[in-house]
Amino acid sequence: MEKRWVATVDLETLEVEHDPSFKFKCIENCGRCCRDLEIPLRDEDIERIEELGYSAWEFVDYDKMFYRGGRFVGYAIRKRPFDDACIFLDTETNRCRIYGYRPLACRLYPFIFVRRGRKMEIYVKKDSFCPGIDHPEGEPVTGEFLLKEYRDVLEEYQKRTVKPSR
Ligand code: SF4
Repeated sequence: MEKRWVATVDLETLEVEHDPSFKFKCIENCGRCCRDLEIPLRDEDIERIEELGYSAWEFVDYDKMFYRGGRFVGYAIRKRPFDDACIFLDTETNRCRIYGYRPLACRLYPFIFVRRGRKMEIYVKKDSFCPGIDHPEGEPVTGEFLLKEYRDVLEEYQKRTVKPSR
């Protein structure tokens, strides 16, 4: 998988260094990533979606598994047999039907977060199918952008990384 560095967050101060030449804008109703990707589900993702009244067997594909370094990390979200799209992609509007409850992997796409000690490095996947990558009307991955989109994710990592001072 090809990727490009776009920002680094200091998890202690939440200061951000970013590549100003990169811009991103998710295109409304595009839905390409809902078709072209396999999405891994964490246990928390499954629990949140079940809160909406779905049963795991309806949306978890137990035949597709993700591994990291030989360690099992989760199953994939189920795709529809007739168009290979995520089962939660609305066929008429091309919008996600569980947007507020979507899995973390969907929220992060097209970014990849890699923690190295007290720093979180952020990369973008160089997927040619995503029209939002390097979009001329896009936003750079500044601190403001990251806190708007991913404050909860960064604060969660911050809690795990930075030990409280006595
Ligand atoms: S493929 Fe890119 S632009 Fe299209 S919906 Fe996904 S993230 Fe947004």
